[in-house]
Amino acid sequence: MALIVHKYGGTSMGSTERIRSVARRVAKWARAGHQMVVVPSAMSGETNRLLGLAKELTPAKPGGDYYRELDMLAATGEQASSALLAIALQAEGLDAVSYAGWQVPVKTNSAYTKARIESIDDQRVRADLATGRVVIITGFQGVDDEGYITTLGRGGSDTSAVAVAAALKADECLIFTDVDGVYTTDPRVVPEARRLGTVSFEEMLEMASMGSKVLQIRSVEFAGKYRVPLRVLSSFTPWDIDIAEEAQSGTLITFEEDEHMEHAVVSGIAFNRDEAKISVLGVPDKPGIAYQILGAVADANVEVDVIIQNISKDGKTDFSFTVNRGDYARTMELLKDKVLPGLGAQEVVGDTKICKVSIVGIGMRSHVGIASKMFRALSEEGINIQMISTSEIKTSVVIDEKYMELAVRTLHKAFELDQPAA
Ligand code: ADP
Ligand code: ASP
Ligand code: MG
Repeated sequence: MALIVHKYGGTSMGSTERIRSVARRVAKWARAGHQMVVVPSAMSGETNRLLGLAKELTPAKPGGDYYRELDMLAATGEQASSALLAIALQAEGLDAVSYAGWQVPVKTNSAYTKARIESIDDQRVRADLATGRVVIITGFQGVDDEGYITTLGRGGSDTSAVAVAAALKADECLIFTDVDGVYTTDPRVVPEARRLGTVSFEEMLEMASMGSKVLQIRSVEFAGKYRVPLRVLSSFTPWDIDIAEEAQSGTLITFEEDEHMEHAVVSGIAFNRDEAKISVLGVPDKPGIAYQILGAVADANVEVDVIIQNISKDGKTDFSFTVNRGDYARTMELLKDKVLPGLGAQEVVGDTKICKVSIVGIGMRSHVGIASKMFRALSEEGINIQMISTSEIKTSVVIDEKYMELAVRTLHKAFELDQPAA
């Protein structure tokens, strides 16, 4: 008997029919003797629908209180899907209970709309599991010290599931979704993409942080920190598929390199359309400039991604960086109102029509010339590179958004990702 956490995404929970299929799959695992905890997302489209309603009523300059209410609102999506799943499990003859984040409680900080989990109390859940109950815990949400409901950022149910698995020291966390594993790139963009049987934790971390939304990045961080065995698999197989077969399907995130792992130099390509570029032009080139600009941005709780500073000309330089598109307007405003006047810079310009494309692979550590192969493949297609950033196991480029699909397909081919790794 094992303690297993299942997570089901929005499409997997998308209708009462789908919820019934999830309930039957979970019941199959429970009847096989496992202690089951299930973390569902809101039904597909629901979080967008709720946030859309808020947008219709949004004040011109939303304050902190607004973000608190957004979380109160968005969290209802997971509350509804969790209760529906509990009802569906009861209809299958199982003892099941659903809890909202605050009832567990899942404690977070107060960074509304992007809160971080600080602790999870496992007492209540363990007591239920001991009586043979299936426990459902809402994904995506928690509660802060003041008792306000928080949410964990888009795609946050993955993180809830892995954090719950870590807190309960679960034997495995299975992320059920609408694709049957982690692919070399998004199979919806490149139909030739190949499913990976295993992917190393480090590669998964880079792929998630570079925009592969199959797993939210924080879920991968949690899995690494607490060594949670993690697998991504399909919720669209027949619910009564053999459990042993199901347990081996999809993609396993591995923590150690073993001889069975695929040894491709580049294992995947990720892309992210959610970023925007901001450039501060004509900045006096003197010590403290990066700090003055980025310090103010960080103080506003905006995460910065790729950064470049050009060489200076006549004592002036240009400074560019990317932020999440959702933070673009407020970062521009902040720079224009608060930072530019004290900086002596000429102007701030922005571009929201960019995207970031990254190649990721542990093999890049020991192979030279991978980045240049990437740049050559892009140049042959006439794609201009605006910014570059690298780490030990990834190279990212910022390009015009309109070339995104072409770039991903070109790189997928250039690195022969459609061919099985040797
Ligand atoms: P869920 O609602 O189950 O959380 P998401 O939509 O958040 O599902 O994530 C699954 C989607 O991630 C897939 O439908 C796929 O389009 C996309 N995706 C992006 N990159 C990859 C990749 N490398 N492998 C598999 N899926 C990917
Ligand atoms: N429902 C939330 C979202 O749409 C969380 C999730 O699906 O993981 O972002
Ligand atoms: Mg998701």
